[in-house]
Amino acid sequence: MTIEFKDYYAVLGVKKDAPADEIKQAYRRMARQHHPDLHLDKDKARAADKFKEINEAYEVLSDPDKRAKYDQIGPGWDALQEPAPPSGAGEERRGYHQAGPGESFSGFSDFFETLFGEAGTRGFAEGGDFKGDPRKGPDVEAELPLSLEDSLHGGDKKISILAPTLCSLCRGSGRRGNCFCPACAGVGETRQEKSITAHLPGFIRDGMRLRLQGQGGPSTHGAAPGDLFLRIRLLPHPLFKVSGSDLEAVATVMPWEASLGGVITVPTLEGPVRIRLPAGTHAGRRLRIAGKGLGKESGARGDLHAVVRIDIPGHTNERMEKLYRELREAGS
Ligand SMILES: [Zn+2]
Repeated sequence: MTIEFKDYYAVLGVKKDAPADEIKQAYRRMARQHHPDLHLDKDKARAADKFKEINEAYEVLSDPDKRAKYDQIGPGWDALQEPAPPSGAGEERRGYHQAGPGESFSGFSDFFETLFGEAGTRGFAEGGDFKGDPRKGPDVEAELPLSLEDSLHGGDKKISILAPTLCSLCRGSGRRGNCFCPACAGVGETRQEKSITAHLPGFIRDGMRLRLQGQGGPSTHGAAPGDLFLRIRLLPHPLFKVSGSDLEAVATVMPWEASLGGVITVPTLEGPVRIRLPAGTHAGRRLRIAGKGLGKESGARGDLHAVVRIDIPGHTNERMEKLYRELREAGS
């Protein structure tokens, strides 16, 4: 079979080095001019063929990848082809596939199919859209802010994200007739708030990405939707600093507690706990509370370090001042 080379630049009436916006303008002008709805019945079939040709040319020249491939292969096209058999007649010779009901403007030429693959036309016939690749929907990334407390528990968490959704007006094609779709500005998708359930592991770190299969962007033609990647952002905590799987908290003690030792209260993610403060504790000493940190990959927990800070009472009375003076004398 001989496949006729299609000069897409000639179809749109632009030069080979025409910039993208010039190609777009030419396409819009020609698509308006040849739209089948604007022609009388006797001219509709001819206009429809022309309209298909214009759309196909634009499909290739508006896509940088397709255009590059076309430009590369174009000049050598005839050499790749077998000698032409006696030409057929009618529809076949024109090289367009028959469109289904209600899809009178769809269909790509054999030339397009040969150059860009079967996949280029399959979805087109199903959906009547212009961009026909039945490819997986795009992957989407969203941020999931989590408190340290929430990060401990793992399990299912209901969250709300702005998810890309197939544009309901143009069904993902990005076009309405010969114009760009007004609802999505030609993108083919819009963003809609969507409630999803994410299963969180017990092991969470800031910046970690969770993959939720099939929760990403929609595909246009029955292919699998993309995946959603949730990027975890651990929210700053007023009491704890994170260091790997360990946490750090400040334990404020009074001078006599630091000197004599005793039992003090330290905050943890699961509420305050009481620990023993050794006698003669200096400021800055780190007291380890095992297993009160964040979850580890192994299923264990990191540690909490209580860093001792020695404070003094906000108010003193006569008796306290007397005792401080005695301390000064005894200590010097
Ligand atoms: Zn749209």
